[in-house]
Amino acid sequence: MLWIEADSLATSLREALAPCGAIQRLEFGGSYRRGKETVGDLDVLVTSSHPDEAMDCLGGWSEVESVIARGPTKMSVRLKRGVQVDLRVVPAKCFGAAWQYFTGSKEHNVLLRGMAKDKGLKINEWGVFPAAAEIDFHDPKDSLTGSDEADVYRVLGLEWMPPELREARHELEWAARRQLPELIEVGEIQGDLHMHTTATDGSASVAEMAAAARARGLRYIAITDHSQRVSLARGLDSKRLRQQWKEIDRLNAEADDDFLILKGIECDILENGTMDLPDDVLAEADWVIASLHYGQNQPRAQITERLLFAIHHPHVWMIAHPTGRLINRRKPYDVDLEAVMTAAAEQKKFLELNASPERLDRNDVQLIAAKALGIKIVINTDAHSPAGLSMIRAGIVQARRGTLTRQDVANAHSWKALRKLAGR
Ligand SMILES: [Zn+2]
Ligand SMILES: [Zn+2]
Repeated sequence: MLWIEADSLATSLREALAPCGAIQRLEFGGSYRRGKETVGDLDVLVTSSHPDEAMDCLGGWSEVESVIARGPTKMSVRLKRGVQVDLRVVPAKCFGAAWQYFTGSKEHNVLLRGMAKDKGLKINEWGVFPAAAEIDFHDPKDSLTGSDEADVYRVLGLEWMPPELREARHELEWAARRQLPELIEVGEIQGDLHMHTTATDGSASVAEMAAAARARGLRYIAITDHSQRVSLARGLDSKRLRQQWKEIDRLNAEADDDFLILKGIECDILENGTMDLPDDVLAEADWVIASLHYGQNQPRAQITERLLFAIHHPHVWMIAHPTGRLINRRKPYDVDLEAVMTAAAEQKKFLELNASPERLDRNDVQLIAAKALGIKIVINTDAHSPAGLSMIRAGIVQARRGTLTRQDVANAHSWKALRKLAGR
């Protein structure tokens, strides 16, 4: 399932088990906690003075279809929507080690085990132990760790690290040197620069989208409806676009705060490699994003050329959903991402991290590569409704997996500062 689906299941499960008196603490582990874009099953750890009652509470949840297995401290159930939930009841003294262990990743844990060995320690789901003959590695009383997950890292001489980083990349080096990146957080996002309205395929007006963004604490948004090529969504021609911009001018003039609605457009890069709207129209926009929606099966050289043309176009600020993939549904286009990134870095153009949960485009590894080139990323929701603005969370989780900090994210800055980043 998509991360956002796992997240909503996890939230419901937490709510369902909240009244369960037998459960003292409940946390999720696994790939869900690490924020992977897709999640298999849900791993739940609890502490409980009455493990049997705790498991009864899970068994009684209305979403449970069947119990797959049940032992003294472990239970697996299948939910009606086909997902498996594994619940483990863990002694409080083991909780830190168990939570770390069941969060993974496997590869991260292998590296940790090696580090522990080098220090004369043994690490497992029960704790971190001196690797001495007389020690029982399953008896938490001999463990150097307690209920706090950070203990595990501390005894190994490491800083605690956010789960999104635990993929056996560079996190252990960083944690040893106290140089972990300060990963971006939802609250740092100041603007959303990709959204649609009823003018094309959105379900709310400009004013309604602006009100929803204001209510979420944003300082600015760009309205970026589709251009005319996207006829299915009644894409805008120059005339309708200019009408929308008049409405935006009026809304900005009427506003009694400094919230800003930017006049934008999501302009298609046509199959023949040109932009879908004339330059004089694009020149009047505050913010132009270029997208490829058609001709996605063209050969690599042609797709790459279309994107490079857009990147070099003087009025284009950002390439939206740069690979076009839809998770579990559509492969990315065949494109030379190296060439696209090199050009974007050179031209000071932004690349999008589209937070729409089935896109999450670009992925974590591509974000790391972009960051290394100094490319600034814009995390946008591509919302088609006010509720769609909340999907920013999925994008933030992906950005954190991509090691992005506030510095790397253009829309974690004010509109004025963002313009500077673009060299405008
Ligand atoms: Zn699009
Ligand atoms: Zn869009």
